[in-house]
Amino acid sequence: MDRYFSEPGLFWRPLGGNNIDQISGHCYQYTDIKELKSGLKASTIVVDLGKFDNHQALGIRNSVAAVPDIRELLQTPFLNPEAIFLTHSHPDHLNGIVHYLKAGYSLPPLFGGKYTLMILEELYDEFAVPRRSRPKFNIIQDGDIIRCGSLKIEIVSSSHTCFDSFGLIIKAFDGTTVYHTGDMKTDNSTYFRKPTNLKRLHQLAEKINFSVADFCGITSDGIAVREVDTFKKLVELIKKSRKRKIFIPVYPTHAEMYLVAFLAALKLKKNVIFYGNHDFYIYLEQIKKYGIDFKKMAGNRIKVVVGTPVDVEALGDDFAVIGTFNNIGNFFDDSSADSFGIITSGTFFNPLRGQFNARNIRFVDVRDYPVLQGYGHGFLGDYEIINNILQAPLFIPTHCPIYVIDSFRELAQYIGIRIAEPTARNNHLYKLEKDSFELIKESPATWLVVNYVNDQAIFTEVWQKPTSGAGFLKRTFSARRCRNQFKMLLHKRKQQGK
Ligand SMILES: [Zn+2]
Repeated sequence: MDRYFSEPGLFWRPLGGNNIDQISGHCYQYTDIKELKSGLKASTIVVDLGKFDNHQALGIRNSVAAVPDIRELLQTPFLNPEAIFLTHSHPDHLNGIVHYLKAGYSLPPLFGGKYTLMILEELYDEFAVPRRSRPKFNIIQDGDIIRCGSLKIEIVSSSHTCFDSFGLIIKAFDGTTVYHTGDMKTDNSTYFRKPTNLKRLHQLAEKINFSVADFCGITSDGIAVREVDTFKKLVELIKKSRKRKIFIPVYPTHAEMYLVAFLAALKLKKNVIFYGNHDFYIYLEQIKKYGIDFKKMAGNRIKVVVGTPVDVEALGDDFAVIGTFNNIGNFFDDSSADSFGIITSGTFFNPLRGQFNARNIRFVDVRDYPVLQGYGHGFLGDYEIINNILQAPLFIPTHCPIYVIDSFRELAQYIGIRIAEPTARNNHLYKLEKDSFELIKESPATWLVVNYVNDQAIFTEVWQKPTSGAGFLKRTFSARRCRNQFKMLLHKRKQQGK
């Protein structure tokens, strides 16, 4: 019998997110099939609809993006999704929405956080999506319960690098329950937003069978960087520098770093200058619109200035410049005698490093102190915590190349983390039933490459292929380095176990 959606049960399919070698373009289908007297009835939801960043490497000229292929779901009445849940606002989870709309598809209602809606509305404006084609957006928060046909979805907050990140507890008609983590770490020290709701996970532990989990950071030992540790390190470095003018460049999409750097300056009573490129000011506006009031937090203690020109004297020559800048220009009267740089991101700020060197301004960066770079994905230690809380659920890893999972298995087994077999691949269909994970159908994975002609998105179907080393996204964690890393971690654990 062809068991392709022809029997009751919960079916799961990654449509992006279980890629060969790159981490991008996330999208997952959950279909719950229930038997009625009149026949089978399916309830389908889609979780995330991102864009695949390395679209240039797929070989279609003038492409602007690539997106997961959900056309079958949109075009097959039996499988029509009742909702699209957006775990958070990052482009690899969200940006597919606009391209589908621009290609003329209508989408089911969306469910996501308030901040996700704000970022989506920016995209609607950028791509001139007419109001009438924008799907209904339902704002969700921690604790909400939403029913989509026979599926029941509970929203749980998640710690990640933006506001309003959520995980989902998805319960099927037969009781099979999945904790879909979204991008997540267990950090309970997040500023201005709820951390991962571990308490709720504790309460639900016995009911949860599976965790479809963001294994992006699983190659690193320990727990992922906590925001409070980044804050403390910034305070310490600023103090130790004994300089009055501090330059703290932050990565554009990591809004939490704007806040952490601001709080560090506030703690040390340094005036703040927000300064950066066009994108930075847009994100800063969004943060304010979201309800973060920098001026109010500053009170009478420090002055807060946005952009240039700056009256350096009025700030008493004592300030922190926070933002996305690779060029500090001549606005700040910086000099080697009174200035210091703290670079909070990797290669992005290379031009700034050159400039600091040319001006003899001392600086430290993430290579010296990895904790300076906020990080949104759980490490191995975070997943050991989740594994304990959920009492060894069956993990279905996502958000990492499949070779990472294949080489993680030996270590996982040693430390008691159960990983579903076989390793899930894009566009393969699986049946999830209490304690069994079964491959039902294999189909080749594709991306839809997006081109724009006369303001209309045109999709070209392209087979998924390895794209590391091609296109702009060259950095990658090689299969060999990955294997060695897990071998080393296994060795370490065995030594500790003795
Ligand atoms: Zn993310």
